[in-house]
Amino acid sequence: MTLSAPQAPAGKLSRPAIEIDNLNKWFGSYHALRDVSLTVGEQEIMVVCGPSGSGKSTLIRCLNHLEEYQEGRICVFGQELARDQKSDRFIHQTMGMVFQNFNLFPHLTVLQNCTLGLTWLRKKTESEARDIAMGLLERVGIEHLADRFPGQLSGGQQQRVAISRSLAMDPKIMLFDEPTSALDPEMVKEVLDVMVKLAETGMTMVCVTHEMQFARQVADRVVFMQDGEIVEVGPPEQVLLHPQWDRTREFLDHIL
Ligand code: ADP
Ligand code: MG
Repeated sequence: MTLSAPQAPAGKLSRPAIEIDNLNKWFGSYHALRDVSLTVGEQEIMVVCGPSGSGKSTLIRCLNHLEEYQEGRICVFGQELARDQKSDRFIHQTMGMVFQNFNLFPHLTVLQNCTLGLTWLRKKTESEARDIAMGLLERVGIEHLADRFPGQLSGGQQQRVAISRSLAMDPKIMLFDEPTSALDPEMVKEVLDVMVKLAETGMTMVCVTHEMQFARQVADRVVFMQDGEIVEVGPPEQVLLHPQWDRTREFLDHIL
């Protein structure tokens, strides 16, 4: 049940980037996503929160086909996603994803992690790929670590590499799945700062996070999920400060 209209607010967000229409997903007999409908506008920053097991990861993993879904439609920039290679290619060209546990290649250096997709998938030369990757590593403040291996970095630094690696592919949409949850508290800010800067560039972002300060600072809308449903969606001040639904209020009381 949705209390507020799931459409993007007017103004900044003229064109829909992602349209999710009545998505249903089962893991065996477990109904993990229940009639989820949501539109994310171009350049919108959408924060998704909700208790553990509520379907947040499943939802964003459906967006880039890391999970299959049984019912419903997902359109990205007007193109309906299908289970075929063309859609997979389109997804890889359009969306980047950052995971809780970084998912870096441990046997490659920071620089190699960032250039691999550029040389293999984008057919850039080594030197073009290096320039792009170094520019991005500089943007997130870790260009001096380019020749290290992931295991030699802090969690915050690894996550910044992961963000650079995604951005190297020039995505139009970035998906984040609890990017700071695996970090020691003192490293959370360095990653959130990078995400705030990215938001300011006009990137369309869907961020599963419980960092409510981040939500208040940059989110256009906050989605609250529970038991595979979108319970509430609206501007941060509405969902976070004046939740209309008891379940949202209980959750926020718990995490704030
Ligand atoms: P969240 O990210 O909100 O914590 P998830 O999307 O990971 O929640 O999971 C939603 C529900 O689906 C949970 O109950 C979880 O146990 C279940 N689930 C997730 N992945 C699988 C899977 N591969 N097989 C079976 N059940 C799963
Ligand atoms: Mg999750």
